[in-house]
Amino acid sequence: MQTGGASRGFAPWASNPYASRGRLRAEPEAPTRNAFQRDRDRIIHSSAFRRLVYKTQVFLNHEGDLFRTRLTHSLEVAQLGRSVARCLGLNEDLVEAIALAHDLGHTPFGHAGQDALNECMAEHGGFEHNLQSLRVVDSLEKRYPLWDGLNLCFETREGILKRCPRSLAQQLEAREPGGVGQRFLANSQPSLEAQLTNVADEVAYNAHDVDDGVRSGLLELDQLREVPLLERTWDEVERDHPGIAHQQPRRLLAEIIRRMLSEQIYDLIAETQRLLDSHPPADAWAARQMGPLVRFSDAMRQHNTALKRFLFSALYRHPKVMETTAAARQTLSELFALYADDNSLMPAEFRYARQPCRGVADYIAGMTDRFAVREHRRLTGRDLLPGA
Ligand code: MG
Repeated sequence: MQTGGASRGFAPWASNPYASRGRLRAEPEAPTRNAFQRDRDRIIHSSAFRRLVYKTQVFLNHEGDLFRTRLTHSLEVAQLGRSVARCLGLNEDLVEAIALAHDLGHTPFGHAGQDALNECMAEHGGFEHNLQSLRVVDSLEKRYPLWDGLNLCFETREGILKRCPRSLAQQLEAREPGGVGQRFLANSQPSLEAQLTNVADEVAYNAHDVDDGVRSGLLELDQLREVPLLERTWDEVERDHPGIAHQQPRRLLAEIIRRMLSEQIYDLIAETQRLLDSHPPADAWAARQMGPLVRFSDAMRQHNTALKRFLFSALYRHPKVMETTAAARQTLSELFALYADDNSLMPAEFRYARQPCRGVADYIAGMTDRFAVREHRRLTGRDLLPGA
């Protein structure tokens, strides 16, 4: 197998860029990079990627410079994913490409923005960020003379489309038979690299939301002891560094998160390797038919569920977060109504003759947090999110 660089040991079930199912529009191979490396480069040079720096998930962009943005989140997902891929003999370049692109379709203001836009689009096909990420790379980026989108290869697009409701998968399948919608109809899995990126996404945001949650003051450090995995890790750190909780709480937090990340990653590698060893797939295509193979042990999965539950109630439903969430939703809903009513308020490229509301959604989804706030202020004269 060619490796497009230093020779590394790829597993037989790793995705192979030289056996890619290809791009929607045929292009000659690049002289120095394989298909997945080229996809990663296209993603990094896209304008949607640059905008990730001003988009947020839990904390709005203006609430502090120390919190994760979608850009730093995507880099953390790529780092975790690559490091696991290397151990498992999977294709690191593909993992990196999917990780860097996985959040390109996110609206401003995180999940609040996605919910608002989905509500506004209820009569017009809805709005879903995974599908929007695919729309970004398939059509919204305008960088090539002969086509819209980045013309990425199948394996990268398959990984970007993490979820897809059946009705939309049928539409995708009609447009692109046997394409990225098919697995949702056939109930098969995406590549192991895509499965890995999904898990790395979850590991990354659980860890950084704990970190940002405490550093923002919304979570008390002591509250972490409500989560069994964090409590045990805390006790281990305290045992190795007596007095750290009182003397150096920030270092305690960093050390808890570091150890938790390592434990999760080692568990993921061990369990996945165990599954692959017990039923080795013949190749990357066979692996897609075998159910999820990149996964945690049952014990770690339970720990993760408990951690997610804690974050949901203590952080994502924190009164302060809910307050900004409500203002963020209102900002996007009002913007949507204004543009839908008078599309001359938007740039010409988003004034679609067919499906004008989809144009409004595409325009709003591409905004950064601060652009949305400023645009709302400019058009309404009101300030729903002061300080942004
Ligand atoms: Mg993510």
